[in-house]
Amino acid sequence: MTGLLRATAVALLAVAWSPALAAPRTDCQPQAIRDLERLSPRGHAIYQALSDKRHFLRFLTCDDVVLGLSTAVHESVHMLTGDRDAYPLIEGGDIGRPGEALRFFAPRDIAKRFDPRDIYVQTYLRRGGASSADDLRFLLDELNAYSHDLHSAVKLVPLRKAGHEVGHRDGLAALMSFLMGYADAARQSVPGTWEGLQRPEMRKLVGTLWTQAEGTLASSCSIAGFGREDRKYIAYLCDRKNGAALGALLGRAPVCATACLRGETASAPGAVAR
Ligand SMILES: [Zn+2]
Repeated sequence: MTGLLRATAVALLAVAWSPALAAPRTDCQPQAIRDLERLSPRGHAIYQALSDKRHFLRFLTCDDVVLGLSTAVHESVHMLTGDRDAYPLIEGGDIGRPGEALRFFAPRDIAKRFDPRDIYVQTYLRRGGASSADDLRFLLDELNAYSHDLHSAVKLVPLRKAGHEVGHRDGLAALMSFLMGYADAARQSVPGTWEGLQRPEMRKLVGTLWTQAEGTLASSCSIAGFGREDRKYIAYLCDRKNGAALGALLGRAPVCATACLRGETASAPGAVAR
């Protein structure tokens, strides 16, 4: 995670802190960790894998424990990815990160395919922003972190307080759209990258992270009030034209999360990029 992203996350958390206190509440943390173990064993496995638990607890705020825990899992996945040079998977184990010598085009070049005012475009694809704008390896890191993030948020629904609606689904829907758009752009106009993406190890990596994201997104569709900016991205993912290049890498058509496009209109108060 870049300094900018870390600053963004900390600023978002600071908003949630009570101005009457010099430090955020931490009294919920012991119980929250026990709840994570009980309800989201995969999220708890990420906590357990960290050598420095303070990194996790730093993001675990008490005003919204579901948001605090899912954010802490997300940020911890970034830390483990850097430490291991591999992406930790929800079901356990990990898959190696491509080498730094990867000469693929910068993901920021696909920003023009999306709404420039969108918080996820600005955070993850803007020049000078997060490292994911410069390097596909970090875009995949974000995709994986948002998969873990939403997976835990789904499992933690029993802890959700009435009225605390957050766009938990938004980040994963956005990052999936960016990867789909990246594959399409590569096939259309960057032959070197398109060739590289078709190498067996890259196809395996993209397929593994994509399938994990797809399953996680689908598992969240029945939960009301879990998305705010998600529908425009899911509509993008469900457009077959957009998914043809990614489908060629996967060896199958991407699955459309149609259930996420049905039902009530979300009324979450805000999207959260981290
Ligand atoms: Zn992140």
